[in-house]
Amino acid sequence: MLKEIAVEIQACRKCGLCETRNNPVPGEGDPKAKIVFVGEAPGYNEDMQGKPFVGAAGNVFEELLASAGLKKADVFVTNILKCRPPSNRNPVPDEIRACTPYLDRQLKAISPDTVCTLGNFATAYILPKFGIRPDAIGKIHGQVINVDTLEHHLRIIPMYHPATVAYNPNMKKVLIDDWKVLAGTQK
Ligand code: SF4
Repeated sequence: MLKEIAVEIQACRKCGLCETRNNPVPGEGDPKAKIVFVGEAPGYNEDMQGKPFVGAAGNVFEELLASAGLKKADVFVTNILKCRPPSNRNPVPDEIRACTPYLDRQLKAISPDTVCTLGNFATAYILPKFGIRPDAIGKIHGQVINVDTLEHHLRIIPMYHPATVAYNPNMKKVLIDDWKVLAGTQK
């Protein structure tokens, strides 16, 4: 199922980002992962390699994973947009509308226990799906939000995006503390 979704994404031309991307980035990781990380969109390195969370933000991400006792292969990592917006600009509503059905299908196929939303855009997309009004990431990062779906219990943990540390190294401790919260939920 995830492979079929990835094949569709590779050929997708549903929004204008198909004109400027080098490689779509469907996401990668364990198809039965208990934890799914949802970021905003591929950046330069992700677009060049077709892989999520590589380059500087990827290094921070792997460091944070290790701090929580996790490995990249044990989780699934993706974004709300599968193609890079030019110059890493913010996603626009039409792009989010066009692309997020892929994310919805990925989450349904994986059926994780925990979804970590990385940054404002992912948080603002995921929380309203469960009737929760999103707040700015600066206010709700590190909170564990429990929701019950028809199928199972789901934990949503909004976090700062790892790229935050690449721009502002002083934020590293804040992120490490949030990831401790995630680690605590996995015991
Ligand atoms: S961003 Fe999403 S909807 Fe737009 S072209 Fe890429 S895969 Fe398709």
